[in-house]
Amino acid sequence: MKKAVVMGAGGFIGSHMVKRLKNEGFWVRGVDLKHTEFSETEADDFVIGDLRDPIVVSNVINQDMDLVYQFAADMGGAGYIFTGDNDANVMHNSGLINLNVVHESVKKQVKKVFYSSSACMYPAYNQEDPDNPMCSEDSAYPAAPDSEYGWEKLFSERLYMAFARNYGLNVRIGRFHNIFGPDGTWDGGKEKAPAAMCRKAILAGNDSSLEVWGDGLQTRSFLYIDECIEAVQRLMDSDFTDPINIGSEEMVQINELAQIAIDLSGKNISIENLQGDDFEKKYGFPVPEGVRGRNSDNKLFREKIGWEPNYPLVEGMKHTFEWIKSQAEK
Ligand code: NAD
Repeated sequence: MKKAVVMGAGGFIGSHMVKRLKNEGFWVRGVDLKHTEFSETEADDFVIGDLRDPIVVSNVINQDMDLVYQFAADMGGAGYIFTGDNDANVMHNSGLINLNVVHESVKKQVKKVFYSSSACMYPAYNQEDPDNPMCSEDSAYPAAPDSEYGWEKLFSERLYMAFARNYGLNVRIGRFHNIFGPDGTWDGGKEKAPAAMCRKAILAGNDSSLEVWGDGLQTRSFLYIDECIEAVQRLMDSDFTDPINIGSEEMVQINELAQIAIDLSGKNISIENLQGDDFEKKYGFPVPEGVRGRNSDNKLFREKIGWEPNYPLVEGMKHTFEWIKSQAEK
């Protein structure tokens, strides 16, 4: 029986990957600081441990592990990444995890490692026009990510690639673009835009308003979790070893995303774009908007992997909305 370790198995993408690997017949060990929040883990072994500690990493990666999936990171949505308050922790915590994982994976001769990078590593200067952002893989340099989170991802991509070159580590690196779906954080400050919009629409009364941070004209694309997991597995099965985008090419304005959530609620809700001084007065920090535009560019994935995601955003939002509604009712 093949064995896999999923790091960050208590989190959103990691918990979905555990399910997928179990369906594929793997023996799975999950590792995280915390247990899964929304459903029981299906992992055969679940270790509560801090992956910043090299001894923990050494204990969870055994000699006979076939695959390591590295999803653990100190991260959150715009309210976590872009205020600046968490910069030192984000860089230090995620950096340590990745330093430990590359070292131990080489030492224990793991057959293949997946590393989850992020579209946040792309240079801000290519994402100023909301209608024409550029996120092709070869546009990564000269580097200029707009957050320390993005810089850490870029550093760690290079770390995994250096270990591949110098020590023969067999790595696959996915640059995720806004993954969403059921079993993801939906309140508390670490949630992402799709979950936040669904929650706000669910909790809003009829004839009320839904707050959107900024002017709402910034663009993004969102990939449904099932397609993210499918893409990771297809990448893992391929021979392609450079970093590659894993995202949707269905780009929308944030106000359009909010409108999808409002339509799903069936309520009469208007959009209130909170910006400038009004925002700062309410929250005590400037609008944490990030870049003006971002979209996945799937050309390389189509060419090298021969597949691309095609699940419509509105369908993914439907499942997410229903799931958050059931959570909110609890
Ligand atoms: P998540 O926050 O739900 O999961 C990350 C998990 O890592 C959490 O459960 C957390 O407890 C765990 N973790 C953090 N520090 C740890 C430590 N020191 N030791 C052990 N566990 C630790 O995030 P997610 O959405 O599932 O994202 C998974 C990965 O994908 C992350 O690396 C993230 O940066 C990357 N990514 C996600 C998105 C997205 O839209 N969800 C986009 C781009 C990149």
